[in-house]
Amino acid sequence: MYLKSLTVKGFKSFASTTTLRLEPGITCVVGPNGSGKSNVVDAIAWVLGEHSAKALRGGKMEDVIFAGTAGRAPLGRAEVTLTIDNTDGALPIDYTEVSITRRMFRSGESEYEINGNSCRLLDIQELLSDSGIGREMHVIVGQGQLDAVLHAKPEDRRAFIEEAAGVLKHRKRKEKALRK
Ligand code: ATP
Ligand code: MG
Repeated sequence: MYLKSLTVKGFKSFASTTTLRLEPGITCVVGPNGSGKSNVVDAIAWVLGEHSAKALRGGKMEDVIFAGTAGRAPLGRAEVTLTIDNTDGALPIDYTEVSITRRMFRSGESEYEINGNSCRLLDIQELLSDSGIGREMHVIVGQGQLDAVLHAKPEDRRAFIEEAAGVLKHRKRKEKALRK
């Protein structure tokens, strides 16, 4: 299983329909500052159900919709489709290719589709639940986060590692139990 392509339309700086074809292995996106590299990563997080505007580097969810430029009017909706290669059958669905679409309007309403059929976000989460991708499953290391880890105080660095290892939540529960 690997991410095969990403199509963005009206999402952040991508006003026109743009498709990125991806290959198995590592993909590098290069370009000048402000050209939309991080927006590509935001699009992947968003289509997989991210609903924190802050995680998408915006103030409110509507900020993902193309806001217009000097020469181009704002758009009314954002749409992202992520196509996953499923020839190895890693996803429990009888398709060798699975496309997940999210569409959002300025009203704030989101629509989701699996291979063009409308569905709930829950259906997407269930489909991806054993795959290691999906909201709160895949890991996106944001710009500046590596610096933050390297320059952190030892106790803060330990917290990062504990969070990654999944023990932080247990420690918090233990502390809470001991306080009682
Ligand atoms: P850097 O190398 O500095 O990290 P980058 O290639 O990662 O840059 P991004 O952060 O992906 O750049 O893109 C920033 C650009 O996206 C800015 O020019 C910003 O105006 C534009 N942008 C973000 N949201 C929207 C939106 N809703 N509508 C139009 N443009 C947007
Ligand atoms: Mg960036």
